[in-house]
Amino acid sequence: MQGLLIFSLLLGAVLGKEDFVGHQVLRISVADEAQVQKVTELEDLEHLQLDFWRGPAQPGSPVDVRVPFPSLQAVKVFLEAHGIEYTIMIEDVQSLLDEEEEQMFAFQARAASTDTFNYATYHTLEEIYGFMDMLVAEHPNLVSKLQIGKTYEGRPIYVLKFSTGGNNRPAIWIDTGIHSREWVTQASGIWFAKKITQDYGQNPAFTAILDKMDIFLEIVTNPDGFAFTHSKNRLWRKTRSLTAGSSCVGVDPNRNWDAGFGKAGASSNPCSETYHGKFANSETEVKSIVDFVKSHGNIKAFISIHSYSQLLLYPYGYTTDPAQDQAELDELAKSAVTALASLYGTKFKYGSIIKAIYRASGGTIDWTYNQGIKYSYTFELRDTGRYGFLLPASQIVPTAQETWLALLTIMDHTLKHPY
Ligand SMILES: [Zn+2]
Repeated sequence: MQGLLIFSLLLGAVLGKEDFVGHQVLRISVADEAQVQKVTELEDLEHLQLDFWRGPAQPGSPVDVRVPFPSLQAVKVFLEAHGIEYTIMIEDVQSLLDEEEEQMFAFQARAASTDTFNYATYHTLEEIYGFMDMLVAEHPNLVSKLQIGKTYEGRPIYVLKFSTGGNNRPAIWIDTGIHSREWVTQASGIWFAKKITQDYGQNPAFTAILDKMDIFLEIVTNPDGFAFTHSKNRLWRKTRSLTAGSSCVGVDPNRNWDAGFGKAGASSNPCSETYHGKFANSETEVKSIVDFVKSHGNIKAFISIHSYSQLLLYPYGYTTDPAQDQAELDELAKSAVTALASLYGTKFKYGSIIKAIYRASGGTIDWTYNQGIKYSYTFELRDTGRYGFLLPASQIVPTAQETWLALLTIMDHTLKHPY
């Protein structure tokens, strides 16, 4: 593998990929509100070029931050000076990236069908779009592909529709990869698509769902960002839109929705990873979904999938006011995470966004919930921090399998509780 590694490193260098040699991810333990405040100060020091994988929240919940090599000393000194504890979560980011690239390279192969497609490796945008076309061709009576819009850079935005008939049936929406670096989510989306075609007519509970409802699945929800994670920067999160007057690129598409837009819990700084954009729905990737949801008008469950942290979340993120359906959402979340854990013992916490993680405004499911879609949920898939966004490909299929059990729970409940 050594030769291959050198080859891929050279290839990376030739193509001008961002390198992360010597970057570390630190896990910071914040003990009290004062320490949360201190770590928040770090966030504002732009010259350090810190990348918060898990932002500062309440005391007791960890903060994960990628620190470029040149800033390591300064950050560690800062933390030690303020008595803030930390551990090194990832010793060298680049070495994980090299392993990932090697794995992808070793397993890349153009599959002739979705049966021979490799679900246990990460794929490029072209490969995923190719997979979608194969699935549609193999199941023309069950699966179709809709284009709901175009990205900032002009790529088509596709949604797979799974339907056994009827006209504008009540529907379940699932999206993966709105944050492009959360690769296990798009990979899980591919697996879900295949699973739907396998289980329909086989699994009675799932068949009952698809006999009455449609499923819409957007696997690559941020195609420009995703293409960029392959070509230039594996850790790109945002869209790729340009902001007039700033040299920083991209908007956080999970802060761009018209629900508490621009309030606390997002940044007005275009250089921030949580930049909310100039106005709500400024991002075409967001606006395309908004238009679709409104024109469809009959979506009953909306599930937006992220990684990492192992959480199942429901509204709200922008306010501490409980959602009107909080009791039911909480009960259902509990059932879903129980189902999820039944397969491999993977433990998920659950709760409202603002309570379980932190205040976040302009988020997807706050908007869908305010549109009247009662069963609005966000997942944060594996892991809890050993690899973070760089989850080894060997965990893709187990992650997708266990998540599917939670999705089934939510879909089944939606079927049985029409509103
Ligand atoms: Zn995310």
